[in-house]
Amino acid sequence: MKTDEAIRILDPETSAAALYGLGHDEAVALVEDACRLAVAALKDPPVKHAHWIEHDDGYQTCSNCGEEHCWEDYRASYCDVCGAKMDEEIGEKEED
Ligand SMILES: [Zn+2]
Repeated sequence: MKTDEAIRILDPETSAAALYGLGHDEAVALVEDACRLAVAALKDPPVKHAHWIEHDDGYQTCSNCGEEHCWEDYRASYCDVCGAKMDEEIGEKEED
């Protein structure tokens, strides 16, 4: 099962449509699969990786969300807005 299907099955806004017309056993099996994915994601959340983009005017922006800071020597190891871990090697991701 893919993530978007699990979300459709577990989201109260879409679950009725996602499960409509299925037999009891089939619906229960799908909900169980979706719950397994959700629990795995809660136990081990995906980590976003980014880096601070250095600008000539002395500002740094998060490569993931664009949050801007103006630090002299300090560089945070995490973005305080999106939570990205600042351990991305430059070149892994396209620069904007
Ligand atoms: Zn960020």
